[in-house]
Amino acid sequence: MQLIDFHCHLDLYPNFVDLLKECEDRQIYTLAVTTTPRAWLRNKNLTTNTKFVKAALGLHPQLVEESSWRSELELWEKYLIETKYIGEVGIDGSRNYINTLPLQEKVFSRVLELACAHGNKVLSVHSLNSSKKVLDMIEKELPEGKGIVVLHWFTGSTSDAKRAIELGCYFSINPKMLITKKGQELITMLPTDRLLSETDGPFVSLNGKKIVPKDVGCVLDGIAKIKQLPTPQIQSLIVKNYKMITS
Ligand code: MN
Repeated sequence: MQLIDFHCHLDLYPNFVDLLKECEDRQIYTLAVTTTPRAWLRNKNLTTNTKFVKAALGLHPQLVEESSWRSELELWEKYLIETKYIGEVGIDGSRNYINTLPLQEKVFSRVLELACAHGNKVLSVHSLNSSKKVLDMIEKELPEGKGIVVLHWFTGSTSDAKRAIELGCYFSINPKMLITKKGQELITMLPTDRLLSETDGPFVSLNGKKIVPKDVGCVLDGIAKIKQLPTPQIQSLIVKNYKMITS
C-alpha cells in the first residue's frame, strides 16, 4: 500500500534528487511544494517523468515582500498554465509577518482568482494565525467545484474547521499536529473523507532528524490512534482521498 506526503519541500533538502528517487522507488505519492516561482523550472524539469512525485507552483506568504512581490507574482502567473498543483500559498498572520499582511492578501487573492479562472487546480494552503481570513477569501474567490483546497498544518479553531469542511476543504496532517491538544481535537472531528498526510519536511524533525517522505507512516499511526481505527484502514482512506483530488 502506498504512502501519501501531500506537502513536502523536497527542493529545500541538499539531497533533493536522491529523495525524488526514493519517493519513486518506494511509491510515495509526494506533492513537492515550492516557496517561490523562481524554483519552478527546476522542480518541473525534475518531475516531468516521475510517477509518484508531483511539483506544485508556490509563492509562500512568509516570502512576500514589498520589494519583490510584484515580480514574483508575475512569474507565478506565467507558469500557472504548466501545472495542476499550486502551493505553498496562503496567508501568515503571525507577528513577524504582520507588516506584509496587506501584500499577502493581494497575492493570495490573485492566486485564488486565477485558480478559479483556470479551474480544476489543487492548492496546498498555509493559514497560520489567519484561518478566518483564509476561509473568507476561499469562500469568496474559489467556490467549491472551481478548485480543491487542502489546508496544510491547519491550526484554526474547531468552528473554523467546521466551516472549512462545509467549504469542501481537505486537511493535510503532519506529525506535529498529532502531539498538540488542538491538533488532536481537529483530527477527532475531521471526517475521514477529508484527511491527507504530510511531512512539511524539512521544517519538521522526527527523533532529532529532519523528516523525509518515507517517515510519513507515523502520521497514519497517529491518526489511527486518535480515530480508534486500524492503521491500514486510515492508510487506504487517505490513498482514496488522494486519488479523488488528483484525478
Ligand atoms: Mn510548508
